[in-house]
Amino acid sequence: MEEVLPGLHRVEVPLPRSPLKSVNSYVVKGEERDLVVDTGMNREECASVLLRALRELGVDPQKTDFFITHLHADHLGLVSFLASGDSRVYFNRPESELLASWEGVGGLILLAGIPEEELLRMLETHPGRLYGPSALPTFTFVGEGSRIEVGEFSFVCVSTPGHTRGHLCLYEPHQKLLLSGDHVLGDITPNITPLSEEENPLGDYLKSLERVASMEVDLVLPGHRRPFRDLRGRVEELKLHHHLRAEEVLSLLEGGRKTAYELASGMTWDFEDPWERFPPIQRWFATGETLAHLRYLEEGGRVRRVEEGEKVKWELS
Ligand SMILES: [Zn+2]
Repeated sequence: MEEVLPGLHRVEVPLPRSPLKSVNSYVVKGEERDLVVDTGMNREECASVLLRALRELGVDPQKTDFFITHLHADHLGLVSFLASGDSRVYFNRPESELLASWEGVGGLILLAGIPEEELLRMLETHPGRLYGPSALPTFTFVGEGSRIEVGEFSFVCVSTPGHTRGHLCLYEPHQKLLLSGDHVLGDITPNITPLSEEENPLGDYLKSLERVASMEVDLVLPGHRRPFRDLRGRVEELKLHHHLRAEEVLSLLEGGRKTAYELASGMTWDFEDPWERFPPIQRWFATGETLAHLRYLEEGGRVRRVEEGEKVKWELS
């Protein structure tokens, strides 16, 4: 736990067996009520660390509100456990609808060409299934421009779709502070996965990167790993990463049409293990990431999809 700024604390909540290692929960101390931004997964290892930190900081659940940047289990998972009946839980509306249904997974299966038996294993180990909240709290919906006042901090919600479709950052204009959730991370590239055939989440993501790069920010408080300062520099790195990744997809397609899953197996990933030894859930993320690039390239007229029997394959156009 560290006090990042007077009245604002970062709690590192462990994520066992995840390559992310931990998630940041930020505690903002107010006069009457405190605010907790993101919570960790709904599992014992997260709950014990966060509860201990909240106790040390004198946070009373009865007088605490929550802000959740996006629906992923490592951010949302513990909120139902922590919130009291008096707590407000600020969240975005598009993702509350997704949470209610797990809709969209079907679209990804068809589009990605994931073998069915593998898909079942991926779903069994999906963190959203294993460590999401046990029951959903009543949300207070916020969106672009919504304001949340806590103590010295006057936050404004910034809509940043891409990593997920309703992702929100919190911006504090006086202190030039951005709580960036998983939109911009210091040394990890946030995963981008389409949840439907129509979505172009990478296109949305690149626009959302431009959006935050245009803001005056001195300090970024990300959802994972350490705070950092050079937001614009990091945005440039992320843009370059996606540009190179898109080029890699195009060059692999020169060998002929492939499914997203087949393409993903040939791409370079940040794992030491070969594709055959990736855990199913990492293959899921890799396939989703590949599909996001295919959809982006499709929108730009660089690739097109061809239906072959039950499968969707992709080729250069
Ligand atoms: Zn996330």
